[in-house]
Amino acid sequence: MSTYCSNCGNEVSEKAVVCLKCGASVSNANINKTSAQPPKTWLVESILVTLFCCLPFGIAGIVNASKVESRFYAGDIDGANLASASAGKWTKISLWVGVAVITAYILFYVVIIATSVAGLTGAGIFNQWLNL
Ligand SMILES: [Zn+2]
Repeated sequence: MSTYCSNCGNEVSEKAVVCLKCGASVSNANINKTSAQPPKTWLVESILVTLFCCLPFGIAGIVNASKVESRFYAGDIDGANLASASAGKWTKISLWVGVAVITAYILFYVVIIATSVAGLTGAGIFNQWLNL
């Protein structure tokens, strides 16, 4: 996604603060008088991992993600950067835990299916009949 400079119409990155062509400040950055943009919040990512895999870790991510912008706009740039790093860390932890859990589930079912298929196709089915 990109925005356009209101001064010269040059296409600029949505993260850009000033137009690289004419130097005019980009409109969406005018809300904030500081020249910096807030660090990555990880909010979307942390919500996604919370929904799809790991509630506790994802919530830690969301809590920190919500602090990023509030701290940044309160002027606490270091705090915002810390919250961003923390949110990113928890989001990545929950992502990898989620991947591990899903992989374990798949392996579990593969083993169950493999053993039941082996039992049915081998001598197991006849042994079951005899036992009846
Ligand atoms: Zn421009």
